[in-house]
Parts: sequence; C-alpha cells; structure tokens
Amino acid sequence: MLKIKTLVVGTMATNCYIITDEQSGESAVIDPGGSSRGLEQALSEIPEDKLCYILLTHGHFDHIGKTAEIKEKFPNAYIAIGEAEKEFISNGSLNLSMMMGVNIKPFKAELLLREGDKITLGSTVIKVLNLPGHTKGGVGYLAEGKLFCGDTLFKGSMGRTDFKTGNEDELMNSLKKLSELTDDTEVYPGHGPMTTIEEEKHKNLYLKRAVKYY
Ligand SMILES: [Zn+2]
Repeated sequence: MLKIKTLVVGTMATNCYIITDEQSGESAVIDPGGSSRGLEQALSEIPEDKLCYILLTHGHFDHIGKTAEIKEKFPNAYIAIGEAEKEFISNGSLNLSMMMGVNIKPFKAELLLREGDKITLGSTVIKVLNLPGHTKGGVGYLAEGKLFCGDTLFKGSMGRTDFKTGNEDELMNSLKKLSELTDDTEVYPGHGPMTTIEEEKHKNLYLKRAVKYY
C-alpha cells in the first residue's frame, strides 16, 4: 500500500507530496517547491536511508525550490525530472525564479525520465507519463491508481500554457491521455484539492474539450 501525505508549501501554495511504500518504509518526495512547517516535520520523521527519490513533475520554481536542501539532508535520494525539462533546473528564466525574484539553490538531476520509465519504492511501482503542455518536459507519476500530475490537470481546470515552452495543443493532448486512465484514478495535482479522473471527465470543461477534439 502507498501512503500519501500532502503538504502545502511556499508562496504559491504548491502541493508537495510524500509518498511511502508502507511495507518497506521507502519514501519519495514529489515537488518540494518551498517550505512549510508540516514539510519539515514530515521530513524529520523519515530515516536518512529511506528517502529514495525526489520526484519533480516539472521545473517551475514553486515545484523545485527546496530540492537542493532536501538532497543535502538525504544525499542518497535520487533527483528525477523529465528529460526534456532538465534545463529548467538551472535556467532562472525558464523556471520563473528570475521573474519572481527568488533564488533556486543549484542541484543536479540524477535521473532524466522518459515515457514509460519505472521507478520502484519497495514493491510499489511508479510509472512515468510524459505530460507536456504546461512546460515542454512535464511528467506525471502514476502508482497504485494514484496520479501526481503537477500543473497539467487541476480539479475543474488545467495548467497555464502562457509560460515559456508552454503549448496549448500539447496540454490538450496530455489531458486526453489522462482521460484514458481508469475512472477511479485519484488525481493529486500541483495546486488545489485532489480529484478523480471520473469527476474531471464529467465536470472539467478542458478535459471534455480534450476528449472531444483531440
Ligand atoms: Zn508550473
């Protein structure tokens, strides 16, 4: 079983998730974009050798901001990001840190992910989905019917496409791809409340448009 802890972090109220394979205790942190007391507390409860991955859905500052700091505390954790997204890490214009006047502590990604890649936490398999559109190299992580999709799909909405490398057609195709997941897939987005594919297929106008026209 996969346990999920949701922490809202940083100035953009980003959802940072800590997922744990209950049997082995192996954990990954998804999108540590900023600070919060809850995140500090949750990280302090993870033994140093049990944080295996820092998984980034995309490279915007509000999703990667605390990565370097966590890597210092958990040097064995592999940092993973979509292959097409790698330049975002060190490019303040792409990751929007320049525009926002924030500093991203530098780090390197050890894993550059592609569609279909598999990451394991104990016996839990996490599948990588390419989800371009909000940014060109965005990815989703799918494990045990739970999807972590960054800023691709929100409850009732979708991610912006007006930042650098954003592309509306690509995002629509990514939404179409997500609509093909099973209805009971739980969606854990980069901001705001969780939802399910079924609910979004019924209520989300963007997803409906993607299904109909793409
Ligand atoms: Zn973003």
